[in-house]
Order: sequence, then C-alpha cells, then structure tokens
Amino acid sequence: MSETAPDCIFCKIVAGEVPADVLGRNDHAVSIKDLNPQAPFHALVISVDHHDNAAASAAADPASVGHLVSLADEVAKASGNGDYRLIANTGAGAGQTVFHTHLHVLGGSSRMSETLV
Ligand code: AMP
Ligand code: ZN
Repeated sequence: MSETAPDCIFCKIVAGEVPADVLGRNDHAVSIKDLNPQAPFHALVISVDHHDNAAASAAADPASVGHLVSLADEVAKASGNGDYRLIANTGAGAGQTVFHTHLHVLGGSSRMSETLV
C-alpha cells in the first residue's frame, strides 16, 4: 500500500484520478509532462509515495530516490539527446509549489549550457 496524502495533486496523478501526459513509470515513480513547461523538454518525475520533498523521500527510503533519477534519465534519453538538468525545488523559498517529491527534468535548450538559473 502506497503512502498518500488527501488533496495532493501529485498523489491524484499517481493514482490516475487526475489526467496527465504520462511519459513513463517504474515501481517507485511516474513521469509526466509539466503543465507549464520552462524548457523545450520539461518532464516531472513524481514519487509514487507521498513525501514532502526529495530529502524526506531519501530519509524514508534512500533507494527510492535512485529510482526517480533512473526514470528521469530514461525519459530524457527517449525524448532528446540525453543531456538534461535535474531540479528538486525544496521549500517555498526555492520555488516549490507542490509538496510531494518530484524532480524537474529539463532539456532541449542551448541556454542551459551557459547559465544555471
Ligand atoms: P514545483 O514548483 O517545483 O513544486 O513544481 C511543481 C510543478 O508542477 C510546476 O512546474 C507545475 O507546472 C507542475 N504542475 C502542477 N500541476 C500539474 C498538473 N496537474 N500536471 C502537470 N504538471 C503540473
Ligand atoms: Zn502526494
């Protein structure tokens, strides 16, 4: 039985209760297209279990975060040349708006090789 939180949009996407453009999945994570893309390729990799952020997932189950990274690599390679940036916003002050563990997978922009933010 997975851990979920009521009224969490990403728990609902993982459960299939809210539609999303699914790019891939494994036992620990689901990858979808971001609704509001910030790069030519912008996917999210969402943990199956509900935790507030990547550090909380790592504390609960260190291996689960590795499975998120593996899925990120898979969807990035399937959609482009395999060069990408991973971002895990942690805390409102860093821009986190959905408090359920997810990685942003960004690719396809030449600007990314020049600037970090
Ligand atoms: P963060 O600001 O790091 O918490 O990232 C949350 C991301 O989730 C944002 O980039 C949103 O565009 C994206 N997002 C929110 N709701 C949905 C949704 N229903 N489907 C796809 N992406 C979403
Ligand atoms: Zn959740």
